[in-house]
Amino acid sequence: MDPANNSYLTLLPGVSRTRCTDPVIYTLDTFFKNRPAHVSSIYRSPQHQLALLRDFAHKKGLTFKYPEAMTCDLDDRDAQGHYVWQWLWSDLLHEGIIINPPLNAHVLMDYIRDGVNKRGELIPQSSHTAGIAFDISGRYNDEIILDDIILIMAKIYLKPLGIKSTTIEHQNDCFHVTCLCGEGNEAA
Ligand SMILES: [Zn+2]
Repeated sequence: MDPANNSYLTLLPGVSRTRCTDPVIYTLDTFFKNRPAHVSSIYRSPQHQLALLRDFAHKKGLTFKYPEAMTCDLDDRDAQGHYVWQWLWSDLLHEGIIINPPLNAHVLMDYIRDGVNKRGELIPQSSHTAGIAFDISGRYNDEIILDDIILIMAKIYLKPLGIKSTTIEHQNDCFHVTCLCGEGNEAA
């Protein structure tokens, strides 16, 4: 059950594996036989997740709106008791970038998802930070695109493989997988 030996769904160098995701990635290998792909991200520390928020801040031109959020520590708070990065993160959601916070946090701005405004809602930290998720991406210099990954995954019965849910992350060009990890999981 060691995904380091996978042939088709291979680990991108530098990804941090977890006990929970290993068996799922291992089992998915054969499904990618005709369309090899990469696992591009597994475990992410809260600091790593904060760095991702900052990457999106650069892409969205929000760095000058939230200069403190570009340099703060993870648990720095503002005068209102919010995390310093919390406004930046909320603004990214508002702008349509779906990304979980580095730590559990309430949404501070209007954020409409599936017709519901989630302003004020407590959003849990990233499932990557919890060690129960991984992302599948195309290999470099390969013609695989997100649509191919979606087609492959759409044919698979997810629960028996230990997969709880999936999300298409268009802004990251990847297919996100959250694992069951013992939660009624027969396979892993
Ligand atoms: Zn993901």
